[in-house]
Amino acid sequence: MEYDVVVVGAGPAGLSAAMRLKTLDPNISVVVVEKGSTVGAHILSGAVIDPIGLDRLTPDWRTDAECPLKTSVSEDRFYFMTGTGSVKLPNWPMPRLMDNHGNFVGSLGAVARWLGSRAESLGVEIYPGFAATELLFGDKGEVVGIATGDMGVGRDGLPKANFSRGMELRGKYVLLAEGARGSLSKQAIARYKLEATRGPQKYGIGLKELWQVTPDRFSQGVVLHTFGWPLTRGSTGGSFLYQYDDRLVSVGFVVHLNYENPTLSPFDEFQRFKTHPLVRETLTGGKRLCYGARAIASGGWQSVPKLAFPGGALIGCAAGFVNFARIKGSHNAILSGILAADKVHEALSAGRANDELIAYEAAWRASDIGADLYKVRNVKPLWSRFGLVAGIGLGALDMWTNELFKMSVFGTLKHSRPDSQTLKPISEVIPIVYPKPDGVISFDKSSSVFVSNTNHEEDQPVHLRLADPNIPIRDNLPSYGEPARLYCPAGVYEVVYADEARRTDPRFVINAQNCVHCKTCDIKDPAQNITWTPPEAGGGPNYSDM
Ligand SMILES: Cc1cc2nc3c(=O)[nH]c(=O)nc-3n(C[C@H](O)[C@H](O)[C@H](O)COP(=O)(O)OP(=O)(O)OC[C@H]3O[C@@H](n4cnc5c(N)ncnc54)[C@H](O)[C@@H]3O)c2cc1C
Ligand code: SF4
Repeated sequence: MEYDVVVVGAGPAGLSAAMRLKTLDPNISVVVVEKGSTVGAHILSGAVIDPIGLDRLTPDWRTDAECPLKTSVSEDRFYFMTGTGSVKLPNWPMPRLMDNHGNFVGSLGAVARWLGSRAESLGVEIYPGFAATELLFGDKGEVVGIATGDMGVGRDGLPKANFSRGMELRGKYVLLAEGARGSLSKQAIARYKLEATRGPQKYGIGLKELWQVTPDRFSQGVVLHTFGWPLTRGSTGGSFLYQYDDRLVSVGFVVHLNYENPTLSPFDEFQRFKTHPLVRETLTGGKRLCYGARAIASGGWQSVPKLAFPGGALIGCAAGFVNFARIKGSHNAILSGILAADKVHEALSAGRANDELIAYEAAWRASDIGADLYKVRNVKPLWSRFGLVAGIGLGALDMWTNELFKMSVFGTLKHSRPDSQTLKPISEVIPIVYPKPDGVISFDKSSSVFVSNTNHEEDQPVHLRLADPNIPIRDNLPSYGEPARLYCPAGVYEVVYADEARRTDPRFVINAQNCVHCKTCDIKDPAQNITWTPPEAGGGPNYSDM
């Protein structure tokens, strides 16, 4: 099928690009493919949303009764947590950009669904339940489209009775809007060496639950962030707790994936965090509605790869446009969709096709996205170098000098190693022991995956591909205790012994049907041996408004 523009991913970035193109010229044909069974089914975010993107894309959103973003931030609270207590930090020394007043709290999945219906009413074709699995190339090596995956292939790789071939969607330009660590984006970055002159991308893993709490424990519009406990030396991150709509509480925890201790389990850190009195106070008596996890790009300004390649471009979190200090990226995803669409429109109007969108590449650093990321460029490197407490203090100071004097005493600090290279051997660390979940506030992985509504066709090839199947047991197990068992938030990876008591004949097991598509294994595996590929389309979580 031939289109002017093919967009991969119906998140805020992809949908904004599609809407902007149709607004600029209704005759441009635009298609969006989405691997989730519906638009929003694979989207997980906080979310406190800076309205700058929506205001520019679709200025009437505030008066549209269908727009799901109705709660404005009423109060910002920051806490430093210790194991038993917490210290509330005053708001006045906080850099201005950390102030959430004027922002809105809601579900980004619901916002994407609403944007999707607006895009369709503008004439955009959206195909949920179709994963883009391949980039298609022309004679000169340029991208000329994408192919969606075959359906009905068995675990043995052979076609089943219901086999149907994937489709080729060809376009004059392809916009990759797959979010953090996109599978086609990863291929484009490698093929066109888009990271060659940039720092490595850095990531966190964000775990989130959606709760409905009792009326007496609910404070509409309150936004709470914490740092400190339960993370210990060698790991950094923080939490969020946002209250909105009908007694909904979005509670989440982000662990930076440059942590060192291979016995750390981000899932269990999150569960432990919820048992702190500060959080328990809100959740007690409430009901957990949904669970999920997703990687979040955190390298910022220094790690944004070259965005344009022949025939296409990266937008949104596929490009790493997250302001990590603010834990916000949805506004930049929308802004980058708009910016890329403007440049695609210029190119199409000039009769161009399948070339490099140099103007998009040239424009982003001078745009609002660049201004947003530049101010916080040293925050993450300072956290990594100086640890949580000193790093956060220095990071705040740096944000102030950037705001007031448009400069930093640190210049632009580099990120160090990629996240896959930061683990220490298991022999050099003190193993972390986690408390058992109570089933009321804290839960185990299997009951959590259950409420993510994850579903995959079981008779299909394993979508988590190992370059060398021997590495997990031969290398990762003795060196790191096979950390995939712990960093995977869905219990996909297990080491099973023939004799559990004597630990003989270990075997690496992949329960691919549990995968919530967070992409952490693709990022953190110390041997870079795991590649996440899209499973049969429509498979994965079915998040309800995450
Ligand atoms: C825990 C957490 C908390 C966050 N909190 C906030 C917050 O409070 N405020 C904020 O502004 N931002 C927040 N963010 C960041 C925000 O979620 C992202 O910046 C935003 O989602 C990026 O939008 P996107 O469109 O680029 O990607 P995504 O929202 O990730 O959307 C990508 C879409 O592409 C689809 N897709 C991917 N690959 C393919 C493929 N090959 N074929 C077909 N479809 C594909 C996915 O299924 C998905 O629907 C948070 C992120 C996390 C993880
Ligand atoms: S298998 Fe990988 S992508 Fe899937 S949930 Fe586990 S860590 Fe995330």
